[in-house]
Amino acid sequence: MSLKVYNSLTRKKELFEPINPPYVGMYVCGPTVSGESHLGHARPFITFDVLYRYLMYLGYKVRYVRNITDAGHFEEEGREAEDKISSKAILEKLEPMELVQKYTNMYHWAMNQFNNLPPSIEPTATGHIVEQIEMIKKIIEDGYAYESNGSVYFDVEKYNTDFSAKGQPYGILSGRILDDQIESTRELDNQDEKRNKSDFALWKNAPPEHIMRWQSPWGEGFPGWHIECSAMSTKYLGKEFDIHGGGMDLQFPHHECEIAQSTVCNHQMPARYWLHNNMITINGKKMGKSYNNVIKLSELFAGTHPILEQAYAPSTVRFFILQSQYRSTLDFSNEALQASEKALRRLMDAYEWLMSFEQTDNHTASDGQLNEKVLKLVTAFDEYMNDDINTAKVIANMFELVPIINSLKDKHISATALDSKTIEFMKKQLTAFIVNIFGLESSKANNNNNKLEGVLQLLINMRKEAKQRKDFVTSDKIRNELTALGIQLKDEKDGGMSYTIQ
Ligand SMILES: [Zn+2]
Repeated sequence: MSLKVYNSLTRKKELFEPINPPYVGMYVCGPTVSGESHLGHARPFITFDVLYRYLMYLGYKVRYVRNITDAGHFEEEGREAEDKISSKAILEKLEPMELVQKYTNMYHWAMNQFNNLPPSIEPTATGHIVEQIEMIKKIIEDGYAYESNGSVYFDVEKYNTDFSAKGQPYGILSGRILDDQIESTRELDNQDEKRNKSDFALWKNAPPEHIMRWQSPWGEGFPGWHIECSAMSTKYLGKEFDIHGGGMDLQFPHHECEIAQSTVCNHQMPARYWLHNNMITINGKKMGKSYNNVIKLSELFAGTHPILEQAYAPSTVRFFILQSQYRSTLDFSNEALQASEKALRRLMDAYEWLMSFEQTDNHTASDGQLNEKVLKLVTAFDEYMNDDINTAKVIANMFELVPIINSLKDKHISATALDSKTIEFMKKQLTAFIVNIFGLESSKANNNNNKLEGVLQLLINMRKEAKQRKDFVTSDKIRNELTALGIQLKDEKDGGMSYTIQ
């Protein structure tokens, strides 16, 4: 059986056929490093990490490109405002690249905590200004972009008219038609620079006070957000590649704009399969500043956000995310996370016992029916993953195996109830799926994490006490030596303390 994935472009499950097997090119939109990643960011990065691992398990040689947006992401799309990096750098009194480095390090730390594999290439927007300018020049030459006051805009209406005739209108991915989009676009500043409301910026003229600026044929400025992904995916994966991934919120306008830009430049749809994960809600509500429910990943791991009843280990969060298929909605709550924590422990305990279970002889199953059942459950792992990466169903099957493994352990069933080959197969499949594909760490690793957490908490308390008795030599020593080990302590507004490990 072969892998099928739901393609947002065609709105159906399709057989995955790479352009040039065994090679697979996959591009996933990475973070904007103007701040710390939050729980909402965890889902796409874990989803596509599991897809990456599964493709490798299937024998593909995958080039996984995930970018870092360190320029060009506007506070509000289309406004003349500073981009997110610039405005945050002013706020934090940092040089923009200092800010970018700080949040890139924190992002890498969080990805590491989740046990996400690093991508094959992690290009940055600021490292690819030349490629972006070249692409914009091409789009202007082809007549689909125009300059206005030192800025360059993509002409969405012209694109839509010409490419609708070719069966590829603007909005092909999200299903939005252009009239709807114009209706829904808010009245924005700087409208007079654009011919039409739906046009988007490829390049922005930098006002004198703007810190991040580069030379271009249109004067000093900075790139728009969408163009970086088109430029970097073309550079590292070619004009046409296999998979483009991201969160559902990126379908419009970001991916729609990427399709339009790349299609004009490269004369074809950039990616064959467009995969989008669904969003995470918090206690039934959308995540947003107005609800005060944006939980940063360091807060999640340390249990310091007011919503949280406790700290949650990264492996618990990872497991919680994998308990749902990536296209279904997922609601975060303390109860759900606590249930995941318990379930993961049960699963890992059973798995670890099974791995230590040594059979003395080769035997055939004394309980044929049970043997059949186990074989069926274990074989189905691959079938479920091939059905649009249904991690939820794989995990459900694992939990049907847990009581069987526990019965073996407690000797409620005979040690020879299952065929010895079945036991070996079960070990092999559980290791492949739990460890290699789902990337779940054994509870031993979690115990070590808990111990480390305990030691850190002890040092944090000792430092607090030293500060209280004005022993700044000791408090500074603790902070400096931890920094030297790559552990950053941070004083929180509420008097508490958090830390990050690099
Ligand atoms: Zn992107």
